[in-house]
Amino acid sequence: MADYIVYGDLNCPFSYALHELLSSHNLLNKVEWRLVEHTTDISSYASATESMSEIASDIFDIRNRIPDISITLPPNRSDSYFPSLCVIAVGKTAPASLPCFRQALYRNLWIEGKDISDSPVIFNALESCDLTTEIEADETCEAILHDWQAQWEAGNFGMRTPAIQSSDGRRMVGLQNYKNIIEFFQGQSVSSPENQPTSRHKERQTIAVFGEDACHKLWNVLSILRDNYNLLLPQSWPALKEQLVSPEQCPDLVLIHQPVQDNSLAERCLELNHYLREKQIPLACIGPELDDTLEASLYDAGTADYLLEHRNPAIIQARIGILLQLKRSHDLLARAASIDNLTQVYNRREFERTLEMEWRRSQRSKQSLSLILLDIDYFKAYNDHYGHLNGDNCLRQVAKAIKDSARRVQDIVSRYGGEEFCILLPETDLAGAQKLAENIRDNINRLEIPHTGDVADKVTASLGISTLIPANGSSPRALIEQADQALYKAKSAGRNQVMIFNQRR
Ligand code: GH3
Ligand code: MG
Ligand code: MG
Repeated sequence: MADYIVYGDLNCPFSYALHELLSSHNLLNKVEWRLVEHTTDISSYASATESMSEIASDIFDIRNRIPDISITLPPNRSDSYFPSLCVIAVGKTAPASLPCFRQALYRNLWIEGKDISDSPVIFNALESCDLTTEIEADETCEAILHDWQAQWEAGNFGMRTPAIQSSDGRRMVGLQNYKNIIEFFQGQSVSSPENQPTSRHKERQTIAVFGEDACHKLWNVLSILRDNYNLLLPQSWPALKEQLVSPEQCPDLVLIHQPVQDNSLAERCLELNHYLREKQIPLACIGPELDDTLEASLYDAGTADYLLEHRNPAIIQARIGILLQLKRSHDLLARAASIDNLTQVYNRREFERTLEMEWRRSQRSKQSLSLILLDIDYFKAYNDHYGHLNGDNCLRQVAKAIKDSARRVQDIVSRYGGEEFCILLPETDLAGAQKLAENIRDNINRLEIPHTGDVADKVTASLGISTLIPANGSSPRALIEQADQALYKAKSAGRNQVMIFNQRR
């Protein structure tokens, strides 16, 4: 009996990704891989926009969770019934070659984009594993597949694949991140939900391709782009707009496919401007030859380029590459403009921008917003004694200690000026802010940066905290002023301590 039973579908990209991960860690031998069909009525929407859009989004997620997996968008989700029977047949006659054959089918679909319900594709996969092509995918195989399907459906996995059941009773449903999967197979219980924060797959830029017509026409364009970029295929105009405001899915380029000359295209492009402007996301359209007036109206409406769909793929790819290069440069510049050069935390300008935003958000959500202001103690004396270069170095170390202490993604650490830093803490109450401030103070003490001025033996800092639920019509200045008053109290009380703003004093 295997240590683990996995229920997975050949046409499920998450199951494929798990299979690849287990294979690369030599773990497939611990697993009995039972094939199921997670979408049984595949033929009814095999090439529908809905299905493609879902697969594109799934692949995007997989690249986020397990960046090393090689996976590309296939032209459609093959029907997995017949290839599953073939896998079962091989399992009966040549069990040692089973993982090889299953992997060959998975890769044919998820790397090469082939239709694995096609007999020649199955034959080639068999041959690549030195297996005979004379296999018997008969009713006994069907019975096994139905049996597995029934077990999976009765297993309370929420009809999701992959679903893993260990012989000691642990379960994992859906594709989790790399660390969780490996820990699960090392015998640990992984309780955290599947949607842990994931790092966005940065190396590839993301293109949202929007086209209202059937996917097979769009496929010509997608097939040119699918190897080099993440593709998202929003199903509707509102879905595209949603992606443009989403922090996780926001694309680096929007490409609209319009297969026939359409006078309303410029209007639609204009509508997107509002969403594209702030992040400088370029917009391109692709379609047939247009008359000049219409093409010019697209540029007026903010389109960066109009591509002809019948041109050589190399040309389409090159022009898209130029737009994405521009976007990358813009992102680098935007980043440089928001980061303090010396300490690599956010600068004051970025702090003020986010403070405004978080203030408004707290007003709406009625959640508390906290701010910690931090000032290094006796820093003038430090500079006087050790010189400015060492002073700069000290600032860098302190900034890093602060950044390493404030670990939630929404915490914003910035250099407020000179030797002052601020830490903006959305959705954080006073107790939480206090705990973090004490931590930061502690971690700066632990740096043990010697300070041989007459005033102190090591570098320390004073911190002031203010916490507010912003009232309507109030200004975020209140938060800064109150934290500043608290900081002043910490200084007067002897430095190297945390103080809270107290309304009554
Ligand atoms: P206190 O404990 O009251 O905060 O005293 P302090 O000496 O830290 O405060 P003060 O405001 O008198 O001096 C701040 C010093 O910080 C002045 C300047 O020498 C130093 N400083 C400000 N910006 C930088 C910088 O970018 N690099 C370096 N090396 N020093 C800086
Ligand atoms: Mg100061
Ligand atoms: Mg100071």
